[in-house]
Amino acid sequence: MLDEPRADEILVRLIASGVGWADLEAIDGGLPVPFPFVGGGEGAGIVEGVGDSVTGIAAGDTVILTPAFCGVCARCREGSPTHCLEHDALNRCGTRADGSVPFFGDGVPIHGFFQGQSSFATHALCRSTSVVKVPAEAPLEVLACLGGELCAAASIVIHAAVKRLEAIVVSGASGPGLVAVMTARALGFETIILVDPDQARRELATELGATFTVHADTDLPAVVMSVTPGGVDLSVETTGDRASLDACVASLAPGGICALLRSPGFIQPSDDALAAESRQISEMSRGCGSPHETIETLVAWHAAGKFPLEKLVVFYPFEHINDALQTLAVDAVPKPIVRFSLGLFGDLDRAGAEGAAVDEPADEPVDETTPENVDAVKV
Ligand SMILES: [Zn+2]
Repeated sequence: MLDEPRADEILVRLIASGVGWADLEAIDGGLPVPFPFVGGGEGAGIVEGVGDSVTGIAAGDTVILTPAFCGVCARCREGSPTHCLEHDALNRCGTRADGSVPFFGDGVPIHGFFQGQSSFATHALCRSTSVVKVPAEAPLEVLACLGGELCAAASIVIHAAVKRLEAIVVSGASGPGLVAVMTARALGFETIILVDPDQARRELATELGATFTVHADTDLPAVVMSVTPGGVDLSVETTGDRASLDACVASLAPGGICALLRSPGFIQPSDDALAAESRQISEMSRGCGSPHETIETLVAWHAAGKFPLEKLVVFYPFEHINDALQTLAVDAVPKPIVRFSLGLFGDLDRAGAEGAAVDEPADEPVDETTPENVDAVKV
């Protein structure tokens, strides 16, 4: 069962939730979220209740969920809540500040607030900063995937564009990689170079706006220098592969930035990349700026037909969440999304809410490619 919303909390009935890299990392024990917990960091749904101090959000509102931020620290005040100093406390601890948890299963406390929401459940309790209100007609099933890593990818390109950048390299036609391409196209970048070993993914990238696509075995810096003499000002690395990182750095012009979208510790630059003069390697898995502003921009682009997310997503019933996690782990589809069936769960009250709780592995490490420890259980 799920707690009542407290003063600054919002209760949301989920319509759909994207499945992201953060889920795989958390299941694998790579994030500091305590077991057992309910995963899911890319939810979208309808508000069912709000706490007494919540303003601007009401029952019935259509919302997309994103990681929480405190709203008062130095980073939040300067307009960069993505880098909130309280990020881990709000998104990775599994509890409120007083140590209480939102979920209970047979009397056993289950951690929540994963990425501010724990959206692998029919209902989520969120702090108000995790909730982005969108137009009532917004297609939530598709837009659900915007709250996490896709938002981060788009935000990096949006903020780079403030500096009037015109050329970009994106390595990996993953969901975030393709969103980086789509964002660059929407912003009018003239040169968008996409690198991926898979021909079908490269063709999809071309359809979404890439102006050049190359196989991962290609000498990327040579291609870049032939297309954009001097190199690009921004490269986005989404594969977690060191050779890819080296190529992304070597493709930069002086003063350029290589943004890493995989999580900290996932990839280590080579000495050559670290020694590249006047080029910056920046870990940006959370993105930058305000996730609210980024999501609002992307939702507007989607409504205007400029951001065809439908081409990236594959839907799964919530009951098949393990299949969705598996397809992401092996990069079989750019973006899996689980959908909640009103016919199955709609008549349940919160005491019977269903969620996918992840239990701590008992004896052996979890293999992220076979997350059998994730079972749909009643919580
Ligand atoms: Zn903050």
